[in-house]
Amino acid sequence: HRAREYNVEEEGKKGGKRKGTGVKYDDVAGIDHIKADVKEVLDILLGDERYVAMGAHPVRGVLLEGPPGTGKTLLAKAMAGEAGIPFYSANGAEFVEMFQGANGAEFVEMFQGVAAARIRSLFRTARKKAPAIIFIDEIDAIGKARSSGPTDSGTQEREQGLLQLLTEMDGFYQDDKVLVVAATNRADALDEALLRPGRFDRTIYMGRPSPANRLKILQVHARNKPLDRSNDDALLRQIADLAIGYSGAELANLMNEAAILAVRRSQPEIDLPILKEAMDKIRLGLPQDSLPDSAAKRQYATIEAARAVAFALTPGMPQLEHEFGREGGTWHALATPEGATNAVQLDKPLSQLEVACGLLTPLYVARACEEVLYGRESVSLSTSKEVSRAGELARWIVMDSGLHPATRDEVVRLNLRPGGKRDPTVKWAWKNYDDLIMDLQRRAYEAALRLVAERATVIRTVGNELCDNKDETVLGSRVIDLLLNTPKNEAAAAAATAVAERAES
Ligand code: ADP
Repeated sequence: HRAREYNVEEEGKKGGKRKGTGVKYDDVAGIDHIKADVKEVLDILLGDERYVAMGAHPVRGVLLEGPPGTGKTLLAKAMAGEAGIPFYSANGAEFVEMFQGANGAEFVEMFQGVAAARIRSLFRTARKKAPAIIFIDEIDAIGKARSSGPTDSGTQEREQGLLQLLTEMDGFYQDDKVLVVAATNRADALDEALLRPGRFDRTIYMGRPSPANRLKILQVHARNKPLDRSNDDALLRQIADLAIGYSGAELANLMNEAAILAVRRSQPEIDLPILKEAMDKIRLGLPQDSLPDSAAKRQYATIEAARAVAFALTPGMPQLEHEFGREGGTWHALATPEGATNAVQLDKPLSQLEVACGLLTPLYVARACEEVLYGRESVSLSTSKEVSRAGELARWIVMDSGLHPATRDEVVRLNLRPGGKRDPTVKWAWKNYDDLIMDLQRRAYEAALRLVAERATVIRTVGNELCDNKDETVLGSRVIDLLLNTPKNEAAAAAATAVAERAES
């Protein structure tokens, strides 16, 4: 074995002045609703008498789920900082990255077991220095659901690493004071085994902040900056309202850009014009980041417009936010429950099955838009991700959710186990679930083709406005307005149905 000891990044060595990471809960803004949860987990870990007396087991793992930049790393550091205990961090991707692109059998043999060895060493170090927190960022890189078919050696390596992680977490003794905090932006892709009791049995969702929480985050990052405070926090409140869809990291970046601009302009304090300029810089990206006007850009924007239209037309979806547009080089439809109304009114509440199936169509809309508006040959990789997510969702509906009438009884039977998790080794009695999944996918794709054809005029209009508007955004209310006031193109929809039928045959 050439496996070398994994070199963990250790923060907060005892002995120095600083204990723990130095990060405090106050540094993480807008998480009031989860602070109590997190505090409880730490209290149990550190042996708080009240929990011991009640016979409560320590929580072994906390999973932080949410998009990048929402403060997951910061929160994990604050947990260690508040408790004054060491913090060991690693990244799921580093455990496995050396295997990416490594095809030579010899190479693989040489490093066989490295991921597992790294994990073992990480846990060994943390146990020695306990109480301690282990933080694993991007755990999905190593914790993806295990595959069932034949696998290549990279995958085998990753899966060995995952097994080692499971073994380590199961091997904790009652009085081992080590807490594993992991972060991911897609908990749905994680291996079920990781979420079983005794492993990551608490999941905390860290989303993009609401306007009120955006203000709190801005306040944290304005603490050490000279700011025009002539009108209390009116300035930051205004910025918080404008910064729709910003993550915590983007807000931090905004304050920093503003500070740099203030210096550049020789201004003694940060004021509204400076903040707005910083926002433009971040939102639009630097000039060279903006795509030049081209057919490709228009197509890109039109596909994004199709996503927004599908979103607005799907019952059960959150409401379309005030605006959507380009962020960091890609277009995003930003959605939160606040703000505008959607274009559909329901006369009766939807069943859960209808809501779940309804989510499939928007996932197919980008692909359908390429096919209907730009022709089959223009179908691109950029829309494949959504297509495969739709596949995962359809599979979940049939095999796991207990919502599908044909498999409900069986799912219920298989789930009647402690912890409510399905045993992956139990064989299904129902053989045709693949047909059921296919059927859901086919119907949703047809609906997407029809939607794009029916709403082609609105989609093209919104796409062009996305390119032509000064700030490359379109208001959500504008999309809804167009949808309500533009007649559907029924003839095109009929043609799209014919396309779908041809595709099927
Ligand atoms: P993640 O781990 O979720 O990708 P990070 O914790 O690395 O995000 O966040 C990056 C930076 O963004 C932090 O160091 C901090 O400056 C800022 N930030 C993110 N969320 C918050 C928050 N809730 N409060 C204050 N700052 C935040």
